[in-house]
Amino acid sequence: MSRAILIVDVQNDFVEGGALGVTGGTEVARGISHHVAAHATEYAVVAASRDWHAADSDNGGHFHAPGEEPDFNRTWPVHCVSGDHGSEYAPDFDTGHVTHHVRKGMGVPAYSAFEGVTEQGEALATVLREAGVTEVDVVGIATDYCVRASVLDACREGFDVRLLFGLHAGVAEGTSAAALEEMTAAGARVSAP
Ligand SMILES: [Zn+2]
Repeated sequence: MSRAILIVDVQNDFVEGGALGVTGGTEVARGISHHVAAHATEYAVVAASRDWHAADSDNGGHFHAPGEEPDFNRTWPVHCVSGDHGSEYAPDFDTGHVTHHVRKGMGVPAYSAFEGVTEQGEALATVLREAGVTEVDVVGIATDYCVRASVLDACREGFDVRLLFGLHAGVAEGTSAAALEEMTAAGARVSAP
């Protein structure tokens, strides 16, 4: 048995003050840093994903069209443009234990970290399998979008998945509650960290 942790999109634009700041994001960043520091030896892989969009593009309709309001479901304000401050990890997330940095959304909408690639160009599922990982803990932002999609993909890929309760923050209460139900229906467990 080998375990990994996947830290989803703990970036400046997704914490308080960011383009798509989620309430509780900074608190979650701190909680994740504490958890990873305390449990680092238990994880064969510590993967962190970042939403990483192209600057001069609507990224496949992911950014709202000029003159139109974002619907905050399919279209979003401009966020996480590669290389900008908003795309960097939030300062309260200590990346010292991260073994793999995954980027996703280069020119396309990509909610799941499993759609991304590492700096070596490898898919996340490949990295996990090569490390012999069978169990994946998932934390991060946002519960109702990228965490949800990453958990569902992890289940689909055949991993034994836990969402670590409290180490995630969502855009809205209703959609976050629905996302938790969807994750458990897909086979994920919601566990205390
Ligand atoms: Zn995005």
